Amino acid sequence: MATFEDARQVLERRFGYPDFRGGQAAAVRAVLAGRDVLVLMPTGGGKSLCYQVPSQLLPGITLVVSPLISLMQDQVDGLAAVGLAATFVNSTLTPGDADARLRAVEEGRVRLLYVAPERFGSARFRQWLERVDVSLLAVDEAHCISQWGHDFRPAYLELGRVREAIGAPVIALTATATPEVRRDVIDQLRLKEPVVVVRGFDRPNLSWHAVRARNDEEKDRALLSLVRRRRPGVTVVYASTRRAVDALTDFLNRAGVAAVGYHAGIRGEERRRLQDAFMAEEVRTVVATNAFGMGIDKPNVRLVAHYHLPASLEAYYQEAGRAGRDGESADCVLIHAAGDRSIHAFLLEQGHPGRGVVEAVYRAARAGAGPDGRVSASDIARAARGAAGERQVESALRILEGAGVLRRSGAATGAAWLRLIATANRIERDLGGADQGAERTLLRRLWRRVGPDRLYEGLRIPRRLLAEIAGAPDSAPVLLDALQARGFLEWDPRPGREEVQLRSDADPRRLPIDWREVAEARRREERKLDWMCGYAGHRGCRRGYLLRYFGDPDAMERCGRCDNCIGKS
Ligand code: ADP
Ligand code: MG
Repeated sequence: MATFEDARQVLERRFGYPDFRGGQAAAVRAVLAGRDVLVLMPTGGGKSLCYQVPSQLLPGITLVVSPLISLMQDQVDGLAAVGLAATFVNSTLTPGDADARLRAVEEGRVRLLYVAPERFGSARFRQWLERVDVSLLAVDEAHCISQWGHDFRPAYLELGRVREAIGAPVIALTATATPEVRRDVIDQLRLKEPVVVVRGFDRPNLSWHAVRARNDEEKDRALLSLVRRRRPGVTVVYASTRRAVDALTDFLNRAGVAAVGYHAGIRGEERRRLQDAFMAEEVRTVVATNAFGMGIDKPNVRLVAHYHLPASLEAYYQEAGRAGRDGESADCVLIHAAGDRSIHAFLLEQGHPGRGVVEAVYRAARAGAGPDGRVSASDIARAARGAAGERQVESALRILEGAGVLRRSGAATGAAWLRLIATANRIERDLGGADQGAERTLLRRLWRRVGPDRLYEGLRIPRRLLAEIAGAPDSAPVLLDALQARGFLEWDPRPGREEVQLRSDADPRRLPIDWREVAEARRREERKLDWMCGYAGHRGCRRGYLLRYFGDPDAMERCGRCDNCIGKS
């Protein structure tokens, strides 16, 4: 049996790294000991090596499940570059090519095989699996198994059964370390007494603070005194709407603090001018919505202040985490008021309409449809009683489309709207990892096809062209969602007028919809909000609270530098 020392040698001789990084050693040890393992590390933390190193030491093959087909080529190329034989099979290959690759694995010439989760739907592949000796099943991006995660993939749900059939130990890996996702991954993959490795979420140079205000005037005052305090570097103030960004920018400038506002509504020359001023630190405070990308490029952000409560701790940690990228101390301050929660409650209501609203929208669609079964979304919005606004109608239509009773046209055809936010530098730096090759490639191709000017300006782009640029029809939305979530770009898959085509004549009171699931989806969002509000009102160590949320075993009772710890010292 392979020892840990063997693993260290593979690391050194093959990958050329002298030492394992935090968490990798524990994960590799556990894998070599035949245990189930759950690895939670932030993006760039080095998850891949946790299975790539053992793959060279285990007797059988390592089967890697990965959600993005377009990433596989990059992974395999990366391994080939260090002399490791790996391969993948997915729907982009001809059957002949796929067979040849599987044969190479079967004959022991290749020990690492990447597949998409959908592959297990193929009976041929399942039969093939019975003939080979699988030593390890690695499930990458394992949060895709959880409805709590941001990119749930139904095919991942099958993996629990797959792992039972294969019978090999499992290593599951993800950067989403929230309690619900963790629990889901363990349950769904049927991990047996897993060794859980959580590393790298702590940011020791950040100090966490929260300021409670009674109203907007108090918030303004708190913000002003914060940004007025002299500090080196730059400040980012996050607000949740464009209007709030404009108002706060105005307010700060009138109060004598030079600030620029930044949001998706500011375009072209104006944006470039603001961006240059901020990068050159002529203006050292930027007020922004979460669409803000340029501040991320600055390593010397010394203060990130939030003027509104984000919807979840994941969102908060990501935005606040843009402070102190240079490793020097920085402050993260959440200014909040009791009313903040109700804004989110309203948004939740919009995004997750209840049964009554969904049925009303369906009735309105039926009443408004012409003989061809078509009706415009705006007509529905006007006629639907009880529905509060277009966003709620939109959400109801999404639920109805999911149930198959209607189709929103423009989903797969028509145009999308797209705008690049991140600078070339940031793309180079933050998408440099082997894992992000697909995102990088997509951006590079867009850059070449459309040109940077139009990309930064924002443009309507035919869906067909997007699919072509992405190389596979389904991967463009996934990649663009991922890039949007990380603040690289903004996109809207179906801007403008929308039409609905009725597809069935179901009784409005008997719609084929799982109402329990609809309610559950909403409850999940509410729970995230609860955690966020819990943070705002927390009286103990804030850094500890955040780390506990992300499941870090090193979560402390006292960090000695957050507002609550300082107050108690
Ligand atoms: P993740 O999947 O967690 O986002 P990756 O596995 O893609 O991260 O690794 C990110 C980068 O870190 C890669 O470029 C990888 O080569 C590098 N890396 C990983 N482990 C080590 C290590 N022990 N020493 C040095 N570099 C490492
Ligand atoms: Mg990875």
